[in-house]
Amino acid sequence: MKTKDGREFMSDGYTLSETREILKEFGIKPSKGLGQNFLTDKNILAKMVAAAELSRHDQVLEIGPGIGTLTRTLAARAGKVVAVEIDRRLVPVLGHTLKHCDNVEVINADILTLDLGSLWKGHFTGRVKVVANLPYYVTSPIIMKLLEENVPLDRIVVMVQKEVAQRMNAGPGGKDYGALSIAVQYRTRPSVIAEIPPTVFVPTPKVASAIIRLDVQETGVRYAVKDERLLFRLVRAAFGQRRKTLMNALGSGFPEVDRKDLAKILEGCGIDPRRRGETLSIEEFCLLADCIYEKTM
Ligand code: SAM
Repeated sequence: MKTKDGREFMSDGYTLSETREILKEFGIKPSKGLGQNFLTDKNILAKMVAAAELSRHDQVLEIGPGIGTLTRTLAARAGKVVAVEIDRRLVPVLGHTLKHCDNVEVINADILTLDLGSLWKGHFTGRVKVVANLPYYVTSPIIMKLLEENVPLDRIVVMVQKEVAQRMNAGPGGKDYGALSIAVQYRTRPSVIAEIPPTVFVPTPKVASAIIRLDVQETGVRYAVKDERLLFRLVRAAFGQRRKTLMNALGSGFPEVDRKDLAKILEGCGIDPRRRGETLSIEEFCLLADCIYEKTM
C-alpha cells in the first residue's frame, strides 16, 4: 500500500513512525475525548489476531478501527470485516489505508446508538467474532451492549484497560467482582491473554492495558435461569449496596417482597442472609434468582 507521497508499506499493521506519518498526512490530531490511542506494535496485533483464531469462514465486527491498523490485519485473515468508527475525520484515512481490502466495510456511526439486531441482519449471517482495541471511556457500556442485545456472538477479543479486564475476570469476594463480572461470566468464559504496556500506543495512555478473550457459549449463556431480567435486577440490588448484608440489600432492591419471605427464600437456597452480595458466586446468584422467581411469580 502507498501513502500520499507514494511510499510502499508492505505490512498489515502500522509501526509508530508509519502511524505518525499517516496522522500527519491527513492532518489528524488524535481525540482524547474519543479514546484515540493507536496501536503501533505488530507483535501485539499478531497476539490479538491469534487469540481470535480467524479463518476465511469468520465474520468480524471491529469497533473503532481508527486509522485501520488492526482492520488490515483482520482483513488479511477473516472472510469479512465490518468496522464501526464514530469519528468522521477518519473515514478518508480508512478509505486510503483499506483501499486494497475488498472484504472490509466501514460504517461511520456510534456503536452505542446502533441497533445491533439491524447491524447483524444487514451485514452478517450467524455468529460473529468481535475484535477491537476499544475506546476506554466506553468499554463497559460497549461490552454490556454486546452481551445484553443477545446477538449471535462466537468470541470477543478486545484490548481494554487492565483494571477492566480484571473486573471482567474477577471471582467472588474481591473488590473487582461486580455487575460487569457477572454479566460477562453469565454469557462467556473470560481469559486474559496478555498485559500490555502504555508505550505501544500513540499517543501514550496513562493506564496499562490487557487483551481479554471472551468465549461465548453456542447457546448464548453458560447458566440457565428462569428469568434473565430478574437475575440482573438481583445483581444490581446486591452490588448497588455492597456494604449491606444480602438481606438488607435485597430488602431495598425488592421492596414488593415481604422480608420474612426473603429470609425464607435465602434459607431455602442455603444462603446465609448475613453474607454480602459480593461473596456470592455466579451459580449462587442464578440459584437465588430462580428461587425468587418461583416464590414471587
Ligand atoms: N483500532 C485502532 C487501533 O487499534 O489503533 C484505534 C483504537 S482507539 C483505542 C479507539 C477507536 O474507537 C478510535 O478510533 C475512536 O475514534 C473510536 N471510537 C470511540 N468511541 C466510539 C464509539 N462510540 N463508536 C465507534 N467508535 C468509537
